[in-house]
Amino acid sequence: MQSPHRKDLGLRGFEPRAFLPPAGGRIDVIGKPATIKITQEIVLSYFIVVKMATSGDDPQTAEATGDKHIQNDGYNKKCIFCKIVNKELDTELLHSDEEISCFRDIKPGAPHHYLVVPTQHVGNCKSLGKQHIPLVEKMVEIGKAVLQKNNFTDLSDVRFGFHWPPFCSVTHLHLHVLAPVSQMGFMSRMFYRLDSYWFITAEQLIQRLSSMA
Ligand SMILES: [Zn+2]
Ligand SMILES: [Zn+2]
Repeated sequence: MQSPHRKDLGLRGFEPRAFLPPAGGRIDVIGKPATIKITQEIVLSYFIVVKMATSGDDPQTAEATGDKHIQNDGYNKKCIFCKIVNKELDTELLHSDEEISCFRDIKPGAPHHYLVVPTQHVGNCKSLGKQHIPLVEKMVEIGKAVLQKNNFTDLSDVRFGFHWPPFCSVTHLHLHVLAPVSQMGFMSRMFYRLDSYWFITAEQLIQRLSSMA
């Protein structure tokens, strides 16, 4: 399905396998299978798209800052995640090395919800190239390690992915690590939805990057 707004949202170049829910519109609501009318879900999808596109009303949002605030040391002084990894805020770092840092998402969408970020400011996933594949792979690796450190080991019940621009409220590249998926609520499933316009799994991103020239 081709949305009439697709071009306007800057989504050219990304082909989600399907935008519509599976036939029959069956989705899980907090672990319990429930049948929701397909039309309701479509309306809700649009609601989320609009909500995400318009959230983050401060100047550090989206393309507004561009890269002009980035200093030579990879620090963007307008970026909240740069402040977190530089320990300027109280956020606890669950992992921190020269390349990768990890901390909890402020609005958890699952019992375990971590953000894995490059320690140096790197723009959103749309600005990445083939040369970033090792970085993305390292982010996934750290995400798994942090889950394990927090006693979560069932890697078949996890979701690793990125919000696709313009649906990122912070431009600093960040991998969402969510687990267990089976305990994610309805809204979280929408926000971190597979094959949607606004969320791409780490695997899909790596595939996409490796297909680039
Ligand atoms: Zn940053
Ligand atoms: Zn995000």
